[in-house]
Amino acid sequence: MIFPWVEYGLHWLNSRPHACPRINGGPTCPLCELGFDLHKVSADPADKKDIIQTYMPSVKYLVNVYFPDNDQTPEDLRGSVRWISMPKTIKDIMEKTLLRDDDGGDADKPLPYGAFYLTGAEEVSDNTGGYTFCMEIRHKGGYNDYEKSEFLARTMRPLAGKSDGTPDMEKISEILAQRHDLYQKMDSVDMEQLQQITNTKLGALSGEPASSGFDVDESSTVAETPVAAAAVVEPVVETSAPVAEPVIETVAVTGGETADDEKLAELLAKLHNQD
Ligand SMILES: [Zn+2]
Repeated sequence: MIFPWVEYGLHWLNSRPHACPRINGGPTCPLCELGFDLHKVSADPADKKDIIQTYMPSVKYLVNVYFPDNDQTPEDLRGSVRWISMPKTIKDIMEKTLLRDDDGGDADKPLPYGAFYLTGAEEVSDNTGGYTFCMEIRHKGGYNDYEKSEFLARTMRPLAGKSDGTPDMEKISEILAQRHDLYQKMDSVDMEQLQQITNTKLGALSGEPASSGFDVDESSTVAETPVAAAAVVEPVVETSAPVAEPVIETVAVTGGETADDEKLAELLAKLHNQD
């Protein structure tokens, strides 16, 4: 299945981002490889955690989002397509919905399921609908928590509809034409720089063999199997298909105890609209 988001991995070193080639389409990443190797030879759970934080990229998911043109959407976003960088929590919620085969069987509490996105304006009615996604941000121990975000069941409807409820294909085409090329939002991979950083790290490590217990000379011979627990995400098989096509119908949460102005402002601050 082609998902409507693009994975984007960044190594953060000295507060500067470096695109990770392992996540962003390959080839392999020297820094990740070093991390996997170190993780493998480390026996201390605290060290392992440290290694993950130091050597593994943080992964986000870029996606096009359509903000419905209605009064539940903040005024300056209505009817527009923006791109956002989603955390894994939201990506997982979307993925679960896409992979669900039925509504769960509870007529009182039907679950949204299946394709909530458009595959193209030429598609016929079955694929022109979408569920509204409600993004909810809660503050939890210094972090933003997105667990309560969800697709709203019973909201399946055309992305843009005529007054009789049928899809307005012209309007839908217009919306689709607003999509951003998500690949252009990503920094390109600088292999030379990554290799330099990796070499510097290796040099530093080899200066303290006793504390790390890691033999640098062995690093290149360690098998390249990623350590599952070490990876923030599974190793990625990048697809060359145009995954940027689908548009998810999304509405920012309004009202309720969790959506005060500050939180909404924070959400909006995460939105990017530059081309
Ligand atoms: Zn990497």
